Amino acid sequence: MKAALFKELGKPLVIEEVPRPEVKEKEVLMKVKASAICVSDMYSIKGERPLQLPHIMGHEAAGVVAEVGSNVKKFKPGDRILGNAIITCNECYYCKNDLEQVCENHRIIGTDSGTQGAFAEYYKLPEENMYLLPDEIPFDQATVITSPLASAYHGIRIADIQKEDTVVVYGGGAIGYHGMLAAMVYESVRVFVIDTADEKLELAKKAGAAEVINPLKEDPIKIVYELTHGKGAEVAIEAVGVNKTINQAILSVRKAGRVVLMGAPWEKVCLEFENYRKDFLFKEIKISSSITNRKDEMPQLIELVRTKKIDLSRSVSLRLHFEKVNEGLEIVKNNVGNPIRVILDFN
Ligand SMILES: [Zn+2]
Ligand SMILES: [Zn+2]
Repeated sequence: MKAALFKELGKPLVIEEVPRPEVKEKEVLMKVKASAICVSDMYSIKGERPLQLPHIMGHEAAGVVAEVGSNVKKFKPGDRILGNAIITCNECYYCKNDLEQVCENHRIIGTDSGTQGAFAEYYKLPEENMYLLPDEIPFDQATVITSPLASAYHGIRIADIQKEDTVVVYGGGAIGYHGMLAAMVYESVRVFVIDTADEKLELAKKAGAAEVINPLKEDPIKIVYELTHGKGAEVAIEAVGVNKTINQAILSVRKAGRVVLMGAPWEKVCLEFENYRKDFLFKEIKISSSITNRKDEMPQLIELVRTKKIDLSRSVSLRLHFEKVNEGLEIVKNNVGNPIRVILDFN
């Protein structure tokens, strides 16, 4: 099969013939139809996440079943599927206490060293990581479910959104945008999206944001309070991953508000309050962090997308043929045109 090999740091990936992965008893081999480039792939490309080379990246894929292991029950060749590449151990303290999302041995196939990802014509995962893909969902949109939507959805569930809540989302990229879509599943929710890129704000507006705010032009906290009659938002989602917006998110919520921090900063983060008693202590704010998803959320998400309660029609910004993977990586790396998702197509 053809695969894009990451052979040398600082050099483009190389398309080469490599052996097809062999399936074990409980594994499913996917013939990849679409594979998305994730911002987290950039950490690998830049060497921030050390990998044993050569490596095949890619953890957001959808396709059809090519082959199943001898003990696979749920799938047969030809089935449309998508894969969630997160592997948990089922044995650690957290897995045993129904907290697999914080598994001690959490790994992502295609992202972690020694695993083989989906920038290739074929890709395998354990049966429990594959899900049937309904005909209504195209392969390119299905890749979005596997990682950015799954992570955003988990964070939104933690936020405990109620009917008629105002939800403020800091960041209109892949996590913020899909967090907005996931929040809009709840009845009569208003979502405000805050981002410095007008292109992202326009997209958020088209997709249903009640308000969009560019913090380079306006003070987001002031506007949030104005639009909530001085009360503040019920929920704030932080999906930028910088110190400033983490602080702004916390200051945006009302008393007993909920904040979910999903951005992944590299910089040191300090929470700062001009008036700690008034701005935090007396408000009984709940702050959570969230970075990944749970397996039991995947069927819920697939159904939400199938029934268009979550509309992914604007999530795919660009499709490129698989062999143009390096072009796609450059676009994501340089954020050309603020893409939500760049998809590699295998047809
Ligand atoms: Zn991803
Ligand atoms: Zn575990």
